Amino acid sequence: MRKNIVAGNWKMNNDLSQTELLLTDLKKQTQTSNAEVMVAPTFTNLHHAFISLKDTKIEVIAQNMHFAENGAYTGEISASMLKSVGVETVILGHSERREYFNETDELLAKKVDAALAKDMRIIFCFGEELADRKSGKEEDVVGSQIKNALFHLKAWDYKNIILAYEPVWAIGTGETASPEQAQDMHAFIRKTIADQYGYEIANDVSILYGGSVKPNNAQEIFSKPDVDGGLIGGASLNAEDFFAIVNAF
Ligand code: PGA
Repeated sequence: MRKNIVAGNWKMNNDLSQTELLLTDLKKQTQTSNAEVMVAPTFTNLHHAFISLKDTKIEVIAQNMHFAENGAYTGEISASMLKSVGVETVILGHSERREYFNETDELLAKKVDAALAKDMRIIFCFGEELADRKSGKEEDVVGSQIKNALFHLKAWDYKNIILAYEPVWAIGTGETASPEQAQDMHAFIRKTIADQYGYEIANDVSILYGGSVKPNNAQEIFSKPDVDGGLIGGASLNAEDFFAIVNAF
């Protein structure tokens, strides 16, 4: 059975003292839903967050990693380094990584393999741009992003894969995909996985929606049958807003 998941992507926000304040606020919140909850601080705050949230049900996850095990890759962080500070899940393929750091499907396939080799879970992000949607190509774009980065995997790898559909035009813009648009795309994504791996695998994969999810729209989006949670940017920087979303299931 697939899980409901709400993950907060803090992006390049919060220094150590700001992170401490947010962690303190998070620990004051009450969870009434059954969703798995995750937060992704910057690399420099991962260890601190892991220690701070150790006795809670909130998992600390990373926003990115490199595909190499170690070596001459100045400025990069490997899967084993993440694991050494308690991180077991990593976000890969976020549209900001694709856009500003030229991450391609081919590179992402290598990162996916490197994370799986260390038995890490992956929140794999993808989504179309506004121009793709305007020209009716959103399914082609999303289908090929999934195929190029994930279709070399074996069926059993999917126990460690969480998918996150994030239409680029809805990220940080205040514009959300309508619950119907999200449902249509999520159903397409599940069918894409089913066509390759069968419905048993596809029905167990959690598919998150990301893009301007807020306390006032989360419930409607999460009520759709193929939407299994959210990847939350802006609203995850406030503990009350974030838990209002966590509790929207
Ligand atoms: P947003 O970001 O909630 O601020 O739109 C979502 C994301 O980038 O994951």
